[in-house]
Amino acid sequence: MRGAGRIIGFILIALVAGRPSASAQEFRYSTLSKETIGIRLKQVAGKDSQRKEKLKELFMEAGCSEHLHEQPVRGSKLPNLECVLPGSSDRTIIVGAHFDHDTSGDGVVDNWSGASLLPSLYQAIKNEPRKHTFVFIGFTGEEKGLVGSRHYARTMTEEEVERTDAMVNMDTLGLSSTKIDGTGAVEKLIKALAYIARKLNLPVAVVNVGAVGISDSQPFAERNIPAITIHSFTQEAWNAGILHSPKDKLSAIRMDDYYQTYCLMSAYLVLLDLLLPLSTDAGSR
Ligand SMILES: [Zn+2]
Repeated sequence: MRGAGRIIGFILIALVAGRPSASAQEFRYSTLSKETIGIRLKQVAGKDSQRKEKLKELFMEAGCSEHLHEQPVRGSKLPNLECVLPGSSDRTIIVGAHFDHDTSGDGVVDNWSGASLLPSLYQAIKNEPRKHTFVFIGFTGEEKGLVGSRHYARTMTEEEVERTDAMVNMDTLGLSSTKIDGTGAVEKLIKALAYIARKLNLPVAVVNVGAVGISDSQPFAERNIPAITIHSFTQEAWNAGILHSPKDKLSAIRMDDYYQTYCLMSAYLVLLDLLLPLSTDAGSR
């Protein structure tokens, strides 16, 4: 089921001097209903191999079957799963989330919450032409030490790295409203998210989790690709010991917060498509 298409009529200002304004026409996307997002979250499978298959199924349901690939990963039994939404240019934005989980809990929060959102984000932005080619990736082996994302980032050619304008990673959503890990995140990506959240009247805050654990944005940051990790972690969630424990189950997800994160991320990807690359990017690499 599809929610109403969203058009935000506003002029992009303040973020970057000298950028042309975006028209309302360009800023169009179609978020799915909260019901659909909830159904996909509840379809969490037990084993990682089943999660990979389920993710594949959801990508196909979302309309991505022609550009769906498995990338074999050295050191992992399971591959990365990649769905490509071709744009009008070869500039690329990577959107990632790991589908594997720590088996001491159900791994719904960490990280079926992120992985199952990938097809729904694809669906939200696919109906309008985009400048960027979007690559949605479900990573394998994050819990084993970023195995899938490391493999992906390391096997990118210099040319592929050069044309990648951003890597947006989602890990552990729905415990609270949208949070940004400021550790290692590129400031312009943080600012862009804060900007669109304000425009949509949706909450977002910076909560650093760098000390708790690194995530799949790191291998991309190491290759100087502007990267950001979105999560929902708070001090309370940390104190409650939800991650990597039996408490990581469906009931830990706050559905309203989770759905708001989905809506925010949909708009964020459209904004990044219009905004990137910044003219200052050329000098920063
Ligand atoms: Zn995780």
